[in-house]
Amino acid sequence: MKQLVLASGNPGKLRELARILDDLGYELHPQSEFDVPEVAETGTTFVENAIIKARHAAALTQLPALADDSGIEVDALDGAPGVYSARFAGSDADDASNNALLVEKLGAVPAERRNARYRAVIVLMRHAGDPSPLICEGSWEGMIQLQPAGDGGFGYDPYFYLPELGCTSAQLSSDEKNRLSHRGQALNELKRRLTEQSV
Ligand code: IMP
Repeated sequence: MKQLVLASGNPGKLRELARILDDLGYELHPQSEFDVPEVAETGTTFVENAIIKARHAAALTQLPALADDSGIEVDALDGAPGVYSARFAGSDADDASNNALLVEKLGAVPAERRNARYRAVIVLMRHAGDPSPLICEGSWEGMIQLQPAGDGGFGYDPYFYLPELGCTSAQLSSDEKNRLSHRGQALNELKRRLTEQSV
């Protein structure tokens, strides 16, 4: 098995990615196994932040590294919260305070102008100096509604309305969400690329 390090401490992400990569002949290790500390996400784009995290993990472990970054972009807010999605309401933000701020900012915006999309990026750096990282992206279009609906998912899901489905992403089963979502798309792309070319 080829070894890869994941630049994240999130056990859910590790499980999800490890299952996919195992089928492709890769063994995925969390960066905590190598005592890699978290790095500051100082980029202003999802791609930059994913590269910062992957480069840091690759430099400290001497292994190829995977990292992801994701968030939600609202057109009426010029793409905010974007890379600040997790900390939209401040450094001690949680899902409730982030969602409350989103609803406050969009309260006066008519429904038809509340379009938004989730974005996810997964980056694989073969080594810390890799000049052409593998970059896999996904995006998922929706609208922001001002009342929550559904109790699945996490983050902004109860407010992320999918017009074609007539429900929010918090009202989908996790299988259905994984099939359609920005993360699901980026993961499929990673799988496809690693099937074509190994690292
Ligand atoms: P990170 O990529 O783990 O840093 O997550 C960024 C933030 O984007 C999360 O904390 C959520 O606020 C938001 N986000 C990303 N993907 C989703 C999703 O699928 N549902 C809801 N919120 C999401």
